[in-house]
Amino acid sequence: MSSTAGQVIKCKAAVAWEAGKPLVIEEVELAPPQANEVRMKILFTALCHTDVYFWEAKGQTPMFPRIFGHEAGGIVESVGEGVTELKPGDHVLPIFTGECGKCSHCNSEESNMCDTLRINTERGVLLNDGKTRFSKNGQPIYHFLGTSTFSEYTIAHVGCVAKINPAAPLDKVCVLSCGVSTGMGATLNVAKPKKGQTVAVFGLGAVGLAACEGARMAGAGKIIGVDLNPDRFNEAKKFGVTDFVNPKDHDKPVQEVIAEMTNGGVDRAVECTGSFQAMISAFECVHDGWGVAVLVGVPNKDDAFKTHPLNFLNERTLKGTFFGNYKPRTDIPSQVEKYMKKELQLEKFITHSVPFSEINKAFDYMLKGESIRCIIRMDA
Ligand code: NAD
Ligand code: ZN
Repeated sequence: MSSTAGQVIKCKAAVAWEAGKPLVIEEVELAPPQANEVRMKILFTALCHTDVYFWEAKGQTPMFPRIFGHEAGGIVESVGEGVTELKPGDHVLPIFTGECGKCSHCNSEESNMCDTLRINTERGVLLNDGKTRFSKNGQPIYHFLGTSTFSEYTIAHVGCVAKINPAAPLDKVCVLSCGVSTGMGATLNVAKPKKGQTVAVFGLGAVGLAACEGARMAGAGKIIGVDLNPDRFNEAKKFGVTDFVNPKDHDKPVQEVIAEMTNGGVDRAVECTGSFQAMISAFECVHDGWGVAVLVGVPNKDDAFKTHPLNFLNERTLKGTFFGNYKPRTDIPSQVEKYMKKELQLEKFITHSVPFSEINKAFDYMLKGESIRCIIRMDA
């Protein structure tokens, strides 16, 4: 038992008080974990574009004050009633979408869309009592994705916490708790390219580069990277990208450019941008007869996907996935093991690192398109 178990913890958290305004490091209060909850000390967290979208709250329902963050690594501090699979001291990755282990999705080999704990961006409270565990001077502070990792301590449902090898460096494997697993899984588990096939990846941020890495691991013959930011192309070569297309360089739709480059279309496309135009292009650039496109990017609230139904009749397939179809608790520990066995490189995703006190810099790096992943060191 830790000395803080059962007590309210006062800790520093980066609070978003208003949409698009710099986060403020505040001392907040974190209540003890309730039934089926885990309280953990966060050691490293990283910024993903999903945090930025909901912080900007442009096309999303605003919910403030809120503590963002969902890509992280930490150590269990205490557990609530009914938690038997985790104990204080365990090394863990909190995950934005959970696995209750009991529902029809959790029992299905095909799904990771747990009935109880699947991603819910609109929920700012924890499930047990529909309330927040964070507060400042009595004012509740909303959770984000059930993880809220921009805080020295946080609470998540046990189904959203993957127990990992304690020897794994948390400053590296924390990126497996969202972006890297999402992109890699989108290619390997969902798009499933065959050896020698051509794969187009739209968006070369961490998620897209991980999708490229998945394509490389699957033995793709050609990997076409598509991004509006030409600075991304050099970086992308390290992830197996062989060809680059910048939609801005062409006066026709990028799907036509890609179809011309590939004799009618790519075998697989993975969209990792969040732009609905890119989603449509990703679908329309796959070859008729067998092409498969997978959507990963999180769209704005009112976006719509429009394409001619004939594109489906012509035997193109459109899919989407959260978290690369991985089940958080079942599958993520073995991804960590792959890293430990050097079958998976994570270092190349990590381009920046800042102390917690400078967390707003991580937002600047991402907004300027400079970073792939910026690690935020909580103890610094
Ligand atoms: P990022 O901002 O680092 O990368 C996105 C890239 O897409 C940028 O390089 C940008 O220039 C490029 N881009 C934007 N619009 C484009 C367009 N129309 N055509 C081509 N390129 C374009 O973001 P990230 O952290 O890599 O995340 C990528 C997306 O994946 C985001 O939408 C994020 O919310 C989403 N995401 C989804 C899941 C999931 O489980 N489905 C998980 C994590 C992140
Ligand atoms: Zn479930």
